[in-house]
Amino acid sequence: MVGPTTTPGPAAGTPSSRPPSYQLPPNKAIIVTGGASGIGLAVTQLLLSEGASVAVLDRDEAALGRLAATQTPGRVHTQSVNVADPKAVESAVDRAAKELGPLWGLVTCAGIVRDKTLLKMSDEDWRAVVDVNLSGTFYALRSAAHRLKDQKEGRIVAIASIVGLRGGFGQANYAASKAGVIGLVETAARELGRFGITVNAIAPGFVRTPMTAAYGETLEEACKAESPMGTVCEPSDIARTVRYLLAPEASHITGVVLRVDGGQAIGA
Ligand code: NAP
Repeated sequence: MVGPTTTPGPAAGTPSSRPPSYQLPPNKAIIVTGGASGIGLAVTQLLLSEGASVAVLDRDEAALGRLAATQTPGRVHTQSVNVADPKAVESAVDRAAKELGPLWGLVTCAGIVRDKTLLKMSDEDWRAVVDVNLSGTFYALRSAAHRLKDQKEGRIVAIASIVGLRGGFGQANYAASKAGVIGLVETAARELGRFGITVNAIAPGFVRTPMTAAYGETLEEACKAESPMGTVCEPSDIARTVRYLLAPEASHITGVVLRVDGGQAIGA
């Protein structure tokens, strides 16, 4: 079990070349679930490179260890947490706030796939994916919202999927979990707006990560063929969009589901 670690670095709010309105608030922290791999890792690295304080909650202890050992500028706090465990998430968010100070935002990236056509899908395959992707997002969002509400401002960004908008062959569990994330985000945006908290979802198409590497090249080629641009996304494409939605400049964007998919969902 990897315990919480905090890697010291330059103070949060290190000056960057961005205009002031685009800078993340200094001395406030951002929590990234699933932040040790793939899209979450790209988000973590981008935020750290801008001097933000980042708490990474992930279950992959080896990846957390590698991240904590890097000399990335900024401040990173890592914790081994199963996001499907509501009590563990609550205490991890508490501990992150104690370590890093007041929260500015939450980015939920932890997710899994267990593909089977629905006639072959077991109850366990269904529950495992819904527990992590949907319930895990809810637990983190609720814990963060309790803290952000008192500050009267904050940002929440959930990683959904275009599969949550249009379904996916062999992905009843995954598609339902991501459609659920979209419903959760739209509801949370309605309920939390009065506290100055924005809540948005990003719906990526195919992104090259350890998750999709397991599918082999055939799926990547099929997804490229669907895209008007003939490309698939890199994790950094999603990270830059997350970064935008976290920025003070995005203060009037809420309840949005932003597709970042090279047009894959509309088709070539
Ligand atoms: P990834 O590389 O597998 O990263 C996901 C991270 O979340 C991993 O470190 C994983 O740990 C962790 N995680 C999984 N279950 C967890 C749990 N119960 N508690 C805590 N951490 C957990 O996947 P990715 O491709 O970057 O995906 C990130 C998010 O984007 C997911 O929500 C995914 O559904 C979504 N998304 C991905 C794509 C794509 O094409 N890659 C497209 C649309 C949406 P383990 O390695 O131990 O599982």
